[in-house]
Amino acid sequence: MITGKTKVLAVIGHPVGHSLSPVFQNAGIRACGLDYVYTAMPVEENRLQEAVQGMKALGIAGMNVTIPHKQAVMEYLDDIDEDARMLGAVNTIVSKDGKLSGCNTDVKGFLGGMQEQGFSPRGKHCVVLGAGGAARAIIWGLIKEQAASIVLGVRNVEKAQQVVEYFAGKIQSSVSLSAFDWSDEGFAEKLEGAQLIVNTTPLGMYPKTDAMPPIAWSRVSPGTFAYDIIYTPAETMFLKTAALHGCQGLNGEAMLVGQGAESFFLWTGVRPDKEIMIQALRDALKE
Ligand code: NAP
Repeated sequence: MITGKTKVLAVIGHPVGHSLSPVFQNAGIRACGLDYVYTAMPVEENRLQEAVQGMKALGIAGMNVTIPHKQAVMEYLDDIDEDARMLGAVNTIVSKDGKLSGCNTDVKGFLGGMQEQGFSPRGKHCVVLGAGGAARAIIWGLIKEQAASIVLGVRNVEKAQQVVEYFAGKIQSSVSLSAFDWSDEGFAEKLEGAQLIVNTTPLGMYPKTDAMPPIAWSRVSPGTFAYDIIYTPAETMFLKTAALHGCQGLNGEAMLVGQGAESFFLWTGVRPDKEIMIQALRDALKE
């Protein structure tokens, strides 16, 4: 029951009415018996500063931040955690002791999904398809976990090369990072040694469910861990094809709910039941 003492959490973005976070966050809150409520608040770009300042005034306990505010919000916060600083994007604000802290939980959300399946990227050869915003969080997660190598497979190598140079300039790490056109033979050779392939492109997402990145599946070894961060549909063409080639598969529900569960923990100090949150997400997607 919502009472006068109920604490408020929210996601801000524009538009934000399509967000599934209220569905699975409230399911997590109910299951933990916590006195919180999670809602969605549309905030226009030119009102972001007011909205963030209003958090303190209104006593809002925490927020998720989504498009288009993930970068712009940083200048209104009191401190920024390492992942958010590295990615230049905040997806979570924690309000505590009069201070607003910006965090990024996408990295832990991505890694947690694989770890729960018993797969660790440490020392592994990894292929990441696409080099956009989500790919950056994934690349940073793989660098932090000390993958042996990360090969980006993309349609536009020049753009991906900028991502390679960004991370190369920021870190002193033994992880080898390179970018290839995914139609080149050099990329197909990299597929042969890959132990993890992550699709971060929207290819295959509803409604264009027949699409997938054009990779040479005959070069992929059985047993490779195939991770598609898309969650609509639950089994993309990429995951179906991976299964036919003997790969282990995981879809994007794990990352979506995982990042939300990490935010939940930062706000409440409680680890929610992710299975209950995933079930709530699936029920909402069915509707
Ligand atoms: P983004 O920043 O726009 O990056 C998309 C990447 O995919 C870019 O490298 C882009 O290449 C490539 N791409 C897009 N359309 C393509 C096409 N038709 N053919 C080949 N490559 C194409 O998007 P994002 O934020 O990274 O999100 C990407 C996907 O991840 C979306 O489907 C999103 O729903 C999903 N996602 C899931 C989660 C989760 O929690 N599960 C979190 C974030 C995102 P160019 O640079 O050449 O355009």
